[in-house]
Amino acid sequence: MTATIISGKELAKQKRLDLAKEVEQLKSEGVTPKLVVILVGDNPASVSYVTGKQKAAEEIGIEFTLENFPTTLSENGLLDVIEKYNNDDAVHGILVQLPLPDHINETAVIEKISPLKDVDGFHPINVGRMMTGQDCFLPCTPAGIVEMIKSVGIDLTGKNVVVVGRSNIVGKPVGQLLLNENATVTYCHSKTKDLQQFTKEADVLVAAVGIANFIKGEDIKPGAVVIDVGVNRLDTGKLCGDVDFEEAKSVASYLTPVPGGVGPMTITMLAHNTVQSAKNELKKVKK
Ligand code: NDP
Repeated sequence: MTATIISGKELAKQKRLDLAKEVEQLKSEGVTPKLVVILVGDNPASVSYVTGKQKAAEEIGIEFTLENFPTTLSENGLLDVIEKYNNDDAVHGILVQLPLPDHINETAVIEKISPLKDVDGFHPINVGRMMTGQDCFLPCTPAGIVEMIKSVGIDLTGKNVVVVGRSNIVGKPVGQLLLNENATVTYCHSKTKDLQQFTKEADVLVAAVGIANFIKGEDIKPGAVVIDVGVNRLDTGKLCGDVDFEEAKSVASYLTPVPGGVGPMTITMLAHNTVQSAKNELKKVKK
């Protein structure tokens, strides 16, 4: 078997074209979607993620502002900046790039962002709404993964899904979204005993671990759909996922690559949320 590659890059390209049309429409009605990204420090990985977000936003026609502060910025200083943008009607999305320096409490920062502008979907109000199946900003990576699976026409109803990883930004919410799609979801993590016993049973396997080539061909059920979220930099400088791509290719039915898989969809879903927020604003104005 040779797996069909689900290209996040291609899917993202199509979605960005659609979003660009929506932005044009919004502009014609007097609203220009605007995203503010706040970066504290100059961590190279964070800078690269922010650059990707800026490129996508501008390509779609979203106005983008980067607020880059030195690592010496205090927690209160950061909370004040967020407050300013919470109160700015021209701003539809606020994203604080994580991780933050140790002296800043991440939870306090996430909770400071208005849930109405929380385009990362990390605020507990949006997390709770997602859990209860209400309308909300969905977290970008998990939402992108669901889109990728749906893009190849897979019905998740009754499928055995195994998510390896239980972080608040990827593992937990992707399991929740797949549960909302009527899959039967199992979470695995670093304390799971006999991981392979679970992964081998997965019709859909999501790897969000952060260890290069962690999932081998022998861990995968023949014909499974394998979603590789990991982004790991090898000593050679090359990026690779959590799944051994070459081995998985001959076992899985569908497989996402790294790079060019989940990453581009994550960024696209951020743009989607920003456009959605601008639409919500327009609805408010029209009332
Ligand atoms: P975290 O480090 O927060 O979480 C990793 C998870 O993997 C934890 O739940 C941990 O378990 C689990 N884990 C670690 N070791 C093992 C093991 N030996 N066996 C089973 N489970 C294990 O990472 P993130 O969720 O933030 O990110 C995961 C990966 O996805 C990273 O490579 C990251 O770079 C990438 N990523 C990619 C994105 C994209 O857009 N493509 C977006 C976000 C992340 P425990 O909870 O027990 O510690």
